[in-house]
Amino acid sequence: MGMSGTRIQVGEFAPGLTKSIDFSISIKPGQQISRPGPVLLLGAPGVGKGTQADTLATLWGVPKISTGDILRENVANRTELGAQADRVMKLGGLVPDEMMTGMVADRLRAPDTLAGFILDGFPRTVGQAQWLDQHLEVHRADARLAVVSMYMEPRRIVERVVHRRICPLCKTAYNTQSLPPKRLGRCDKDGAELIQRSDDSPEVFAKRLGVFKQETEPLLEYYHGHSLFIEVDAAKSPASVSIEIASGLMNFRARLAQ
Ligand code: AMP
Repeated sequence: MGMSGTRIQVGEFAPGLTKSIDFSISIKPGQQISRPGPVLLLGAPGVGKGTQADTLATLWGVPKISTGDILRENVANRTELGAQADRVMKLGGLVPDEMMTGMVADRLRAPDTLAGFILDGFPRTVGQAQWLDQHLEVHRADARLAVVSMYMEPRRIVERVVHRRICPLCKTAYNTQSLPPKRLGRCDKDGAELIQRSDDSPEVFAKRLGVFKQETEPLLEYYHGHSLFIEVDAAKSPASVSIEIASGLMNFRARLAQ
């Protein structure tokens, strides 16, 4: 077994970061650790899961699977699923587990998920987590799930969400304070006018935080000691959080492959 440093240019991927970073990890000669496998990002709404999922997905060339984005697409395309989900989403509640697991199962059937994928916003209940475990056991017996928990004080989350803007076309998220677009109010990637999510209104967002506490926070307990569990301080800059997650995942995969 040899020690080797793997250098990754994160500056291209993480907005605001221009330096390269070094990961010092222990790998066998010839060992491939370039794939992240299944990863899920866990955290309250507004902690930056979507932004991190975008960065990690680009870094590894694997898809980001955001259940919120898929639901919003269904709403925009006026599908039956979208009509049902829309009512729940407007109130800040959770779409029923069966609908969600069916949707994720469909998405995981696509071959682009074979080398790995980044789940953003799923699972959100213990029932969904149990379903995911079973699904991976049956369909990805060789893949170990990595769980990344992003923590931020609720007070800071609320402050952040007030400044959150998203691109309606490519779904990239910005923050007018911590992650501003280059041109005021316009997406860096496609120039579309940025919008505020309707469920980011103070009333609905308070409800979503409450639902997170009740339904999703128990997942922290569920995943402790269950798979790889990385905890990151989500209040740091988006670029520092990306580095922490990416190095944690690479070390994990390297250890598994030994
Ligand atoms: P997000 O973009 O992840 O904040 O999701 C927006 C909304 O979509 C949530 O407030 C829920 O109403 C719904 N949603 C997204 N993912 C899930 C899930 N895994 N389970 C239930 N509802 C979800």
